[in-house]
Amino acid sequence: MSAPIVIAGAGIGGLSAALAVARAGRRVLLVERAARIEEVGAGLQIAPNAGRILAGLGLEAALAPVALQPQAINVRRGRDGTVLARLDLAGARARYGAPFRVYHRADLQQVLLDAASAHPAIEIRTGARVGDFDDRDGMVRLRVHGEAGVEEITASGLVGADGQRSAVRGHLLPTERDAPFYSGLTAWRALVPAEAASAALRARENNLWLLPGAHVVHYPLRDGAVINVVVIVSTPRQGDGAAILSLDGATLARTMERYRPAPELVALIEAGAAWRHWPLFARPPLKFWSRGAVTLLGDAAHPMVPFLAQGAAQAIEDAEALGRAFLQLGVRIETAFSTYERSRLARAARVVRASRRQGDYFHLGGLGAAGRDLAIRALGGRGMLWRNDWLYR
Ligand SMILES: Cc1cc2nc3c(=O)[nH]c(=O)nc-3n(C[C@H](O)[C@H](O)[C@H](O)COP(=O)(O)OP(=O)(O)OC[C@H]3O[C@@H](n4cnc5c(N)ncnc54)[C@H](O)[C@@H]3O)c2cc1C
Repeated sequence: MSAPIVIAGAGIGGLSAALAVARAGRRVLLVERAARIEEVGAGLQIAPNAGRILAGLGLEAALAPVALQPQAINVRRGRDGTVLARLDLAGARARYGAPFRVYHRADLQQVLLDAASAHPAIEIRTGARVGDFDDRDGMVRLRVHGEAGVEEITASGLVGADGQRSAVRGHLLPTERDAPFYSGLTAWRALVPAEAASAALRARENNLWLLPGAHVVHYPLRDGAVINVVVIVSTPRQGDGAAILSLDGATLARTMERYRPAPELVALIEAGAAWRHWPLFARPPLKFWSRGAVTLLGDAAHPMVPFLAQGAAQAIEDAEALGRAFLQLGVRIETAFSTYERSRLARAARVVRASRRQGDYFHLGGLGAAGRDLAIRALGGRGMLWRNDWLYR
């Protein structure tokens, strides 16, 4: 039997890639550092460009019961809650071939994990961290660190789907210039019980509140029982690195006073019992993701700030492209990886840039904000949605 393709990391990217590559007829060994495969964080918006692919992977029957389909996205002026534009999502399926959906991360992860565990060509190993590797003579020899020590595994190819601080990327590009750096933006995330929010904020709709130097996104999850809230602020200080800090709602609301948010928004922030601190990191863009029989995927290849809600969606697009590259019978790993990279590099880079620009636009203050709000009103909900046709189609 030929050596498997090893995928490092069983996040949304790695699990989707395992499914796509196995469906293309290759054997996969999925190696995950954590002892248990579970998502940290709460909500995830899955836009139609990723929804179509998940359906194509045969997951629709399992996903539909755990998904929530918001009716609209309300773009609001953060200081008084005025709706500047309402993006009606009812026609998304007809226009883009899949609906806009939101998931609890753990639910989406579980559906992917169940499908991967049930696939005969996928083996999953947890509590195992991919370390360094050599790529020689068409084989990758990698060191995997587990409880029992270090094991050497021979793979026909290695896919680094090991997230923003990717070890595979670190070995592929061992240079200081490629190190992750703080983006100047920090997120706070919490789940708020629906009954703690006003009726308007409990609706099955996504909301985006724009403040000078900050913005807030929230949407309901799990049949509307909880509301996923993310507060993002521009701040030169990253706080305590990547350490997970937690704040209660009253304290976070006090630190937000300087942005003068609407009372309804303050009440929502106060209702969060434990807000988790999430400094956002970036990495320099790459001109290539693959070298020989090693490649990168998802956040490991193209980490992005989350203002287009596309990080996981782009990882899912990567997975589909990787699977497609293996469909050609007998294709060599190196060829498949470079085909994959060629088909994805430019689009992923465009999404990374557009996400960053979106953040700057959201955080405008003074005259810039007034001009932006006028432009949003002039464009209207339909114009705002169609502006993203390039992304969702
Ligand atoms: C506040 C916020 C909101 C977001 N909202 C959205 C959204 O609405 N929609 C959207 O599409 N995206 C969103 N994103 C982005 C999305 O969360 C990420 O882009 C996505 O989770 C990346 O998936 P991944 O599989 O590439 O990486 P990860 O999810 O980071 O998974 C990497 C996996 O690799 C494992 N690992 C790490 N190192 C090793 C190793 N050496 N060996 C083995 N395993 C290893 C880790 O344990 C982990 O399981 C958001 C991000 C943030 C911060």
